[in-house]
Amino acid sequence: MRAVVYEGPRQVSVKEVPDARIERPTDVLVRITTTNICGSDLHMYEGRTDFEPGRWFGHENMGQVIEVGDGVDKVQVGDYVVLPFNIACGHCKNCERGLTNYCLTAQPEPSWAGAAYGFADMGPWAGGQAELLRVPWGDFNCLRLGEDAQERQADYVMLADIFPTGYHATELAGVKPGDQTVIYGAGPVGLMAALSATIRGAGKVMVVDRHPDRLRLAESIGAIAIDDSKVDPVQAVLDQTMGLGADNGCECVGYQAHDPAGEEHPNLTMNRLVASVRFTGKIGNVGVFVPQDPGASDELAKQGKLAFDYGTFWFKGQHIGSGQAPVKRYNRQLRDLIAGGKAEPSFIVSHELPLDRAPEAYDHFDKRDDGWTKVVLHP
Ligand code: NAD
Ligand code: ZN
Repeated sequence: MRAVVYEGPRQVSVKEVPDARIERPTDVLVRITTTNICGSDLHMYEGRTDFEPGRWFGHENMGQVIEVGDGVDKVQVGDYVVLPFNIACGHCKNCERGLTNYCLTAQPEPSWAGAAYGFADMGPWAGGQAELLRVPWGDFNCLRLGEDAQERQADYVMLADIFPTGYHATELAGVKPGDQTVIYGAGPVGLMAALSATIRGAGKVMVVDRHPDRLRLAESIGAIAIDDSKVDPVQAVLDQTMGLGADNGCECVGYQAHDPAGEEHPNLTMNRLVASVRFTGKIGNVGVFVPQDPGASDELAKQGKLAFDYGTFWFKGQHIGSGQAPVKRYNRQLRDLIAGGKAEPSFIVSHELPLDRAPEAYDHFDKRDDGWTKVVLHP
């Protein structure tokens, strides 16, 4: 089968790899129809991790089931399914508590959190930017889709990661009807957080970024765009909220945050959130901060230690939630919002390309080139 293989920093190629196949009775084999490039793939693509050359990417996957193991009861050949990026066994201590993002069985290294397809430090699992994918514990890890799955792939594939992740950010931030919510980052995850805040009934959603194309997408769903290359984003949020600050905020950038003013700071967005959110407000952080960031320019950040403004955070009595999203917790409801015509997460899709064009897509998406917001690949 063909797959998007990591060759080294900023180098991928599409080439033949061994076919995925059923290995255990609980496995399901999926022919991938749709697989996305994610901001999270860039941690590996940019060479910031120890992802081994020769492995392949892909954790935002959907497709059609072509074979099931003898121990699979629910999923059937022919089903269209979307695969939550968290791989989980369904019956360890964490899975039973709904913490499928921290499954103890699928992740062989107890010092690392959770497991995913085609990911550094998240278990040995192969990725789905390929023609075939082996899904372990298939009954648990496949979300079955309805009859409109084939026509609406660009919507449903977002259930694998970024729609539930954006929703999780708003859940951690406690977004309620009427709230004024600020979101840092208008990448795919930030835009999904903006959509989720709107679904939850936020009265005002403000989105901070500096890419005009991404800010336009935020405006297209009714959010207020704040361009931090032109204005001080904290002041802009205070101006929008009668000087009080937003009720809550979402961090959807992570350790790759840049400051357009050039005063780079390893924890820029978190500190700006502390300043933008009101006293006692909540912050949901889904942008990735890693225990080590060897590529960082700052010594502290190299060790994953961030200069977080804890004093102001404490003084304001704020709360914070963080970590990987437990996709399964939300994806049925979000699937049914899509099916019911109440949510169209595909509004962020800028390109639908054949798998063979993945190398150029990675290059453009990594450079945040104008108009390259979200790439959907079809093997
Ligand atoms: P992305 O890199 O395409 O988007 C990030 C956006 O943030 C870009 O548009 C960039 O211009 C903007 N940005 C950079 N610095 C900023 C700043 N100082 N202020 C405001 N905006 C700034 O990536 P994405 O796909 O949207 O992913 C975003 C983050 O979410 C990544 O860290 C990714 O790994 C993470 N993520 C987490 C989970 C989870 O489960 N927690 C799941 C998926 C993705
Ligand atoms: Zn992703």
